[in-house]
Amino acid sequence: MKMQTLFDLSGKTAIVTGCNTGLGQGMAVALADAGADIVGVNRSDASATRAGVEATGRRYVDVAADLASTRDIPGIVAAALAAFGRIDILVNNAGIIRRADALDFTESDWDDVVNVNLRTAFFLAQAVARQFVAQGGGGKIVNIASMLSFQGGIRVPSYTASKSGVLGLTRLLACEWAKRGINVNAIAPGYMETSNTVALRADANRNRAILERIPADRWGTPADLAGAVVFLASAASDYVHGHTLAVDGGWLAR
Ligand code: NAP
Repeated sequence: MKMQTLFDLSGKTAIVTGCNTGLGQGMAVALADAGADIVGVNRSDASATRAGVEATGRRYVDVAADLASTRDIPGIVAAALAAFGRIDILVNNAGIIRRADALDFTESDWDDVVNVNLRTAFFLAQAVARQFVAQGGGGKIVNIASMLSFQGGIRVPSYTASKSGVLGLTRLLACEWAKRGINVNAIAPGYMETSNTVALRADANRNRAILERIPADRWGTPADLAGAVVFLASAASDYVHGHTLAVDGGWLAR
């Protein structure tokens, strides 16, 4: 296969959750730029993402859903099939974070984070994988992990638990589904400039401490994930299974 063909997503359909902003928006536009039509799953207005996708010449369909529960999953799959007739790629990106000392952490801050970041991500992967099996021909699932899939972090117990869970789940799903031609991998972004990190960047001490530890000497941006997500969504990664790829400016290398 020619190198360009390996990364070409023409004719593919990608579902990207939480793509109205931030990393999800960057990845949706990157996948479209590589040729995929996009099904965005959002609870907020995603017109900026629609514009970004359509500017690449690809189609964008938005599905309104609250990923705090699994309730909307059948509707997401049905809407993708109604729009484009098949599903080839799932990017499980939607995620939230809550910060409080572990001694004070509440059950709702635990449940809310684990439900979106881990529980719904698993059941959406299950629903999409069932569709991959029904279609034949395999598929690609890209989960979004974190530095806190590898490290403990501080004051974010449910986030660390959920993102460590995403890394383990990525391995388990790869072990079960690789033989079906389904690639399950994850991207672990480093410290990226999005609304997820506003509080960190606003705290001058934390901001300086983080920057001092990033060998690339800058926060990452949504565009920094473009190459990784297209790789993991394309034929270029057909023999890559269960891997969590850090895109972190070298953070984990320290
Ligand atoms: P973000 O700008 O806050 O984006 C999070 C996305 O998830 C938004 O689209 C958000 O929608 C959506 N979302 C959250 N809860 C939802 C729900 N119940 N139903 C539907 N959509 C929901 O943050 P981000 O940094 O781009 O985060 C994207 C992913 O990367 C997350 O999984 C995050 O944990 C992970 N990550 C981020 C960093 C970083 O440094 N920024 C590092 C490692 C991993 P709304 O806009 O409506 O809230």
